Amino acid sequence: MHSALRRFAALFVLATPIALSGATSGAASMRATLLRQARTLTTSPLPTARVEDERAESAVVLVVLDGVRWQEVFGGVDRTLARRHGVSPSSWPNPADLMPNLHRLVDAEGLAIGAPGHGAEITASGPQFISMPGYIEIFAGRPDLGCFRNDCVPAPMRTIADEVRDSGDTRDVALVTSWPNIARAASTEPGFVLTAGRKLVDREDVLRADESTASMLDQGAHAPSFPGWGDYRPDAFTGRLALRRLAVSRPRFLFVGLGDADEYAHRNDYAGYLKAVHASDTFLGDLTTLLRSMGARGRHTTVLVTADHGRARNFIDHGPQFPESGRVWLVAAGADVADRGLVAASRHTLSDVAPTIRALLGIGSGSANVDSGERASSPIPEIVAER
Ligand SMILES: [Zn+2]
Repeated sequence: MHSALRRFAALFVLATPIALSGATSGAASMRATLLRQARTLTTSPLPTARVEDERAESAVVLVVLDGVRWQEVFGGVDRTLARRHGVSPSSWPNPADLMPNLHRLVDAEGLAIGAPGHGAEITASGPQFISMPGYIEIFAGRPDLGCFRNDCVPAPMRTIADEVRDSGDTRDVALVTSWPNIARAASTEPGFVLTAGRKLVDREDVLRADESTASMLDQGAHAPSFPGWGDYRPDAFTGRLALRRLAVSRPRFLFVGLGDADEYAHRNDYAGYLKAVHASDTFLGDLTTLLRSMGARGRHTTVLVTADHGRARNFIDHGPQFPESGRVWLVAAGADVADRGLVAASRHTLSDVAPTIRALLGIGSGSANVDSGERASSPIPEIVAER
């Protein structure tokens, strides 16, 4: 059901007892009350049941595209970079060619925050503008100012993954990522299904209970880590595993971390970066197709897509010496999100992602991780206010 209809149904159910108790005298008001009662009898059981069912069906898939720039997301291929790297700009002449599925989500089913010329920027809080602090901020709903490196040990903070798990059970959360370090940002005591990089697995028994998942895990574990390093697992394997997990177990909160684009960018390979961005978009198309096959649950799954940081003007780098690399972007789509296209939003940071997920799933409060003096994170009103 469309969110406006659901709101109407909820209002109708709420209004009925007030109407009954308020009509105590006079034939006209009695007749009006009876009419209202008759209408209530024919309609109220259905909306009540539906409101509860639909709420129970809501879910979130959060996809983070590591280091993918707002410039390509909203502007397509950068002509200067393309010339310098011998890439034909005509291969993807506009943003909707480079990322057709993302732009379909924005145009037809949701909205984008952070587009140039459309309101304030959305940024990583920094000041590091590297991956680990970015992921910690996304999961915890606040920055960890003690994390300066990608191998830092995050301060103990409750994350959105912890909260979703504790609001139901461990089956409600799944995390599938190319870069293994993200697992440490997600939770200190996960207990939920997690496959991060080639080797790091939690609840392997649950994952391997599905034969396809088991063979995908094995293929990913033996794949060369290129374009990454060490235990990095290329996005092609991560994407397939994430879709399989969604189909098999329907977690309420699925986190997908894709990182090939950032790896190619660090190699100063603009052609490779563009191909990785386009492949990430193909994943988003497959995700949308899968959600469409999942009935009410699929319709009321909100897809959020963002990045952990942007990039320096030189394209290759990002970090504290490049403040421009703090700028990111955010797309939200699904039946529970207003269909608004490019939104002129107020100022937001990655800290606002976790409270937004809380609001979408109807769990917890927004203040668990905020110290006095720190900017309080809050649900992004452009995404949740229209519900
Ligand atoms: Zn990077």
